[in-house]
Amino acid sequence: MRQITNHMPTAELQALDAAHHMHPFTQNDGLAQKGARIITRAEGVTLTDSEGRQIIDGMAGLWCVNIGYGRKELVDAAARQMTELPFYNTFFQTSHVPAIALAARIAELAPGDLNHFFFAGSGSEANDTNIRMVRHYWALKGKPEKSVIISRKNAYHGSSMGSGSLGGMSAMHAQGGLPIPDIVHIGQPHWYLEGGDMTPEEFGLMRARELEAKIEELGADRVAAFIGEPIQGAGGVIVPPSTYWPEIQRICDKYGILLIADEVITGFGRTGNWFGSQTMGIRPHIMTVAKGLSSGYAPIGGSIVCDEVAATIAQDEFNHGYTYSGHPVCAAVALENLRIIEEEGIIEHVRDVAHPYLAEKWHALNDHPLVGETKLVGLMGSLALTPEKGSRKPFAAEAGTAGYITRERCFANDVVMRHVYDRMVIAPPLVITPAQIDVFIERVTKALDESYAQIKAEGLLKAG
Ligand code: PMP
Repeated sequence: MRQITNHMPTAELQALDAAHHMHPFTQNDGLAQKGARIITRAEGVTLTDSEGRQIIDGMAGLWCVNIGYGRKELVDAAARQMTELPFYNTFFQTSHVPAIALAARIAELAPGDLNHFFFAGSGSEANDTNIRMVRHYWALKGKPEKSVIISRKNAYHGSSMGSGSLGGMSAMHAQGGLPIPDIVHIGQPHWYLEGGDMTPEEFGLMRARELEAKIEELGADRVAAFIGEPIQGAGGVIVPPSTYWPEIQRICDKYGILLIADEVITGFGRTGNWFGSQTMGIRPHIMTVAKGLSSGYAPIGGSIVCDEVAATIAQDEFNHGYTYSGHPVCAAVALENLRIIEEEGIIEHVRDVAHPYLAEKWHALNDHPLVGETKLVGLMGSLALTPEKGSRKPFAAEAGTAGYITRERCFANDVVMRHVYDRMVIAPPLVITPAQIDVFIERVTKALDESYAQIKAEGLLKAG
């Protein structure tokens, strides 16, 4: 067998990658021409690529490496568990200690009566579980016609048929026959882009009341649940106006529909609490989790379910599950990750140290000629790129042009920021220190300066 290692020249690795690896969410022909950036190692908040460049990871991988890279304790937990019991299923009236311990731990951490855990391997799988669970719940209650799930445009809930349908990404719905039946979408609480002349608070209420209008239109006897990310992540770190979630909660309560909070990004410390629902004041019946549950060291996710829904589902055989539901190695890694988050006070670090320190510098970027607004909750943030300060107008160029240029300037300056159209988003590892934040902001500022110059030089600094 041919040995392919870190020590091979970058160009050879890129050629092999282009020849055999189909990348997700990528135009692979374009990437093959350019060559993928190859990451070889990581430590703390810093990635190393195959050229030896040291890059600050402002995205914690893909919003997941909450405790940072290189934690040996998680390696040891995985090795111990693989030695003792690498796999056993949880289907056939069997269980094992890592699954028992993790489900019990999650029940302790989750608010209210969210005391039950259905394991999955990812956020997408967990949201597929949720679709089947809430529909089956209502069927068991004698209301099988309550099957519609209401979600939002520009939401992201995963990439499988079910979770991709829950999501509101039009580019995804355009491929492969999504959405599946009985999933409908209302508007998102994205004031900067869609708020017009309203105040953020008026707009937040207006968007929340679209839920009420949709329930009235369909009839409450048809609606099973509403799903939302406490703060939209992949849609561009859209922080809803303060009026939004209280009104959504009121409407869900009034019509007796289940509320699902998709906490895949916002869970496990990202917003300065264990869960984003606590930060945003929501009382969900089900929370979707993944990513930060294991800090991305092992693939694991699931649905945290309240007493009443779990008790109802328990009355029947739930014909659902995944081979890796409760995978013992992933569960052991997640448990160790949760121990570290708690014992090292990582959530307190976010709340009391990293957030306030970053917030001051992040919001100061508002003075930059290319920046239209900045947002930061805990350690998830975004900034709007603007062609015309003060106006909230989009660029005349195709959406995403300025964002792509800025992302490229970030790479060139050894810092990862992602772009969602013309909005830049960040979600650094939660352990980032003030000294690292200084370097991060220095590189981000340089990247913004360079992209401003390039956007201007290319004649793209025009509002549409
Ligand atoms: N829900 C949300 C809110 C997410 O951000 C994501 C992933 N970005 C998912 C679900 C899907 O998770 P996964 O990629 O693990 O399937």
